[in-house]
Amino acid sequence: MKASHMSWSWMIIVSFFVLGALDIRFGIMGILCMTAPLAHALKGSGKIHCVKYCPRGSFLGKFLNRISLKRPLPTWMAKKQFKHLLLFMMLSIFTLAMIHSGGSFSNIAAAFYRFMGVSFIVGILMGIVFKPRSWCVICPMGHATQLIKDIPPLATLKKPEQVQ
Ligand code: SF4
Repeated sequence: MKASHMSWSWMIIVSFFVLGALDIRFGIMGILCMTAPLAHALKGSGKIHCVKYCPRGSFLGKFLNRISLKRPLPTWMAKKQFKHLLLFMMLSIFTLAMIHSGGSFSNIAAAFYRFMGVSFIVGILMGIVFKPRSWCVICPMGHATQLIKDIPPLATLKKPEQVQ
């Protein structure tokens, strides 16, 4: 079984935001955060990224535990339809952002940075009001990963522990 890196991988996302604030071109690294969970799922490793690597999940789990009100997430948020809608909205907005970037590297990097920033802030707010990793319940990348994982040929025998 692969070791978990969740105790320190939060440093990656903090470094990402610091570097991006210094030079927006570092925002392009957001592509790694967005595609890594999908790549793992496509390899047949299911949601291993969410359980063992994700820098965002690591941050939310590590820093929000003490300040979180730990309220239960409204049930409608956990419904598949809501997650489908969120994934569709994210892909649509992202596609529009790519079109409006005009192919400029800086604009594309800025779009990734904005996406990462907005979802990070939403994740933190959700983690304060609800349980620390509530964002993970609705995360479009986590949901897309689950959809890939559920494709029969990719359904994995490995069963990473449940994300909180
Ligand atoms: S659900 Fe999203 S934020 Fe949570 S661990 Fe998975 S990829 Fe990261």
